[in-house]
Amino acid sequence: MEKTIIIGTGPAGLTAAIYLARANVNPLVIEGPEPGGQLTTTTDVENFPGFPEGILGPELMDRMRKQAERFGARFRRGWVEAVDLAKRPFEVRLEDGDTLRAETLIISTGASAKYLGIPGEKESIGRGVSACATCDGFFFRGKRVIVVGGGDSAMEEANFLTRFASEVVVVHRRTELRASKIMQARARENPKISWALNRTPLEVLYNENGVTGLKVRHNETGQEEIIPADGLFVAIGHTPNTKFLQGWLELDEQGYIAVRPGTTETNVPGVFACGDVQDRRYRQAVTAAGSGCMAALDCERYLEEAAARGVGQSV
Ligand code: NAP
Repeated sequence: MEKTIIIGTGPAGLTAAIYLARANVNPLVIEGPEPGGQLTTTTDVENFPGFPEGILGPELMDRMRKQAERFGARFRRGWVEAVDLAKRPFEVRLEDGDTLRAETLIISTGASAKYLGIPGEKESIGRGVSACATCDGFFFRGKRVIVVGGGDSAMEEANFLTRFASEVVVVHRRTELRASKIMQARARENPKISWALNRTPLEVLYNENGVTGLKVRHNETGQEEIIPADGLFVAIGHTPNTKFLQGWLELDEQGYIAVRPGTTETNVPGVFACGDVQDRRYRQAVTAAGSGCMAALDCERYLEEAAARGVGQSV
């Protein structure tokens, strides 16, 4: 039996691994199909403190992993299919048929940006298509970019991008925006933002230099048109990776794990959550790492208290 299993290897999971390994907890870290998480899909990370020249996302994650390994964290590839949180120790069932057992769990499975799923989009991720303006907006200084979406995220991304881009075109599939009034008003008052409403994205156009535009269809007239642009930011929401936790942990209406305010404690004692899987607001590498540290400290305290009570000892 493990003392702690950490599920997910983004900045939250790896930071938790570093802290727990240094505390001699010797955690087992389950690495899913996208080791390193969302950061491995970005290029330069210029806002992670301590890297004045910036650092490539995959390299940052590789360094965090090595740091965790250096102190004794163990890694195992696998896809968690199901958990049983009613049993003590907890059970974690992997797709390959293995069942792991642990006294405590740290869930750091992150959230995945939703993409449009249209032709040209996948091929252009990291080459003009992005789902994170904070990460990649800087690269579009003086350029024309498109933001797809009509929610708060899209408004926020559009406003943020006007710091760099010469023009931001918001493409939304309906006439009405979903975003809150205040976010809409802020975007509408921004002279650098223009609107292409009631249009369905059909295809991302690109050449060897990157994105060149977006083909859309007007929903009323049926007419197709091309909106030229150098970049395309998809802001149609995120999906927290919590499917395997449904019915076991308290989730909010969008599937994010509910934690006790100011902590990483879930409604099941001994199960902690950190990073984007419990955060729909900040979603930054540094905030994820910070909550990973919190989860490790919460988990360590829980293990100490359990040991003092003489329950849940490792066998
Ligand atoms: P959201 O509110 O679910 O909005 C997603 C938007 O994307 C909607 O306008 C939706 O169109 C559009 N969309 C979804 N799938 C699409 C598709 N396949 N093709 C084209 N368009 C598509 O998501 P969000 O904006 O990420 O916000 C999520 C939550 O976080 C919300 O509760 C929001 O209030 C909150 N949030 C708050 C702040 C803030 O307060 N600062 C900032 C960001 C997010 P329809 O409108 O037609 O459905």
